[in-house]
Amino acid sequence: MSKILCKCGNVIDDITIPNPYGLLLISENDLDQLEGRADTNKWNCTTFIDHLTMAANQVYKCKKCGRLLVFERGMANFLSEYIPSEKNEPTGQP
Ligand SMILES: [Zn+2]
Repeated sequence: MSKILCKCGNVIDDITIPNPYGLLLISENDLDQLEGRADTNKWNCTTFIDHLTMAANQVYKCKKCGRLLVFERGMANFLSEYIPSEKNEPTGQP
């Protein structure tokens, strides 16, 4: 990958590391298992981050529309997108 086209028309550059659009998504269970492996194998911070990056799903957040584009590990095409909900205005109802 080199650029991702968001549905809003914004082009997201995914080359820069660390990426200003990039997020990592990992389950708490997977993170817990990773922590155990780090303790057992006496990983330093760099090694832990390398394994965390490999274990997590890559997410990019569009800075124009706020969409989250979620890629599963090793997949070139994003699997899911999440759009921020609009703010809920108070209805005056209890
Ligand atoms: Zn967008």
